[in-house]
Amino acid sequence: MEIKDRLAIHMQAEREALQEELVGIRRHLHQNPELSTVEFETTAYIKDCLATLGITIRETHMETGVFADIGSESKGKTIAIRADIDALPIQEKVAVSFASQNAGVMHACGHDFHTASLLGAVKLLKEVEDDLPGRIRFIFQPAEEGRDGALHVIADGQLDGVDAIIGIHNKPDLPVGTVALQSGCLMAAVDRFYVTIKGKGSHGALPHKGSDPIVTASHIVTALQSVVSRKVSPLDTAVISVTRIDGGNTWNVIPEEVVMEGTTRAFSKEVRSLLKDEFYEIVNHITAAFGQKATIEWHPGPPPVINDKALTEKLKVEAGKRLTVIETEPSIAGEDFAQYLMKVPGVFAFFGTNGTEDWHHPSFTVDESALILAAEYFATSALALLDK
Ligand SMILES: [Zn+2]
Ligand SMILES: [Zn+2]
Repeated sequence: MEIKDRLAIHMQAEREALQEELVGIRRHLHQNPELSTVEFETTAYIKDCLATLGITIRETHMETGVFADIGSESKGKTIAIRADIDALPIQEKVAVSFASQNAGVMHACGHDFHTASLLGAVKLLKEVEDDLPGRIRFIFQPAEEGRDGALHVIADGQLDGVDAIIGIHNKPDLPVGTVALQSGCLMAAVDRFYVTIKGKGSHGALPHKGSDPIVTASHIVTALQSVVSRKVSPLDTAVISVTRIDGGNTWNVIPEEVVMEGTTRAFSKEVRSLLKDEFYEIVNHITAAFGQKATIEWHPGPPPVINDKALTEKLKVEAGKRLTVIETEPSIAGEDFAQYLMKVPGVFAFFGTNGTEDWHHPSFTVDESALILAAEYFATSALALLDK
């Protein structure tokens, strides 16, 4: 019997029991969320789950995160499946029996859903391991939420030998049973800036005796609005948002300096670097025109998530057997899965979870009936990509 058929039989036979098990796993994780880089309990829990299945864990220098292989590289390609495991500094507002027990920490991005689904996929694939035409690597990645987890995983060598990688993000606005699969850009590049404008403080009544950084900052904020409307092609899209501005502490004193923070978003490498260049031009020139000095700290976040065309087409066919495959608007949020896609081809998908609120909301929820679908999606997709 072909391995695909064997897997299908397992999936069918175990569906109800596995779904129930995954709900238990997801609720355990949800109740015990941990912030990026300190996912110690979560790491131990995943290791326990893998040990029960008799799976050997790969060596790592990382303190959190779990990596494991099944199958053999001598038989074919290596396909990686990645789930992120960290939570957010948010106080949960959902009244469920399995609500977060860690005050101020919550799985508000649904990484508990991703982790549980991947554990389900491990279980399904383990049962056909002897027939696998290659190797499958499971990446339980820590620190996705703005802490460069993917870069650490790559530096740790966990992507070595991998031919392709897949991942998902739950999507509250898509119904259970749908998966958004599209080639090209799915999520934005995210950069962050921190600017200090140094002027000269003076009495509020004597502005001519100082050099007012608040006026300079105001000009900068206004001029930045013209980047998207006048520098980015109307066929492309981008965001520049100044989200914090801080200067002065009373009504009759012009302050010495102003601090501005914010973020840029773009869907291509070209637009991303255009935004940065224009930002530097505007900030430096306007500040100079007012006889002041600006210091710009530019913190690059993940690049855009760009799916491989051929692999996406393959997964569309495979996923279409069980799910409704759709295309959707790209998300203006970022994902460090993009870092893997800079190294190897792969496909990131949005998975319908019918939530009440969007990501990072204190009332964020997922519909657990999607857990088994995600586990099956992971397992069948990885197998499809292993296929010679
Ligand atoms: Zn998130
Ligand atoms: Zn997330």
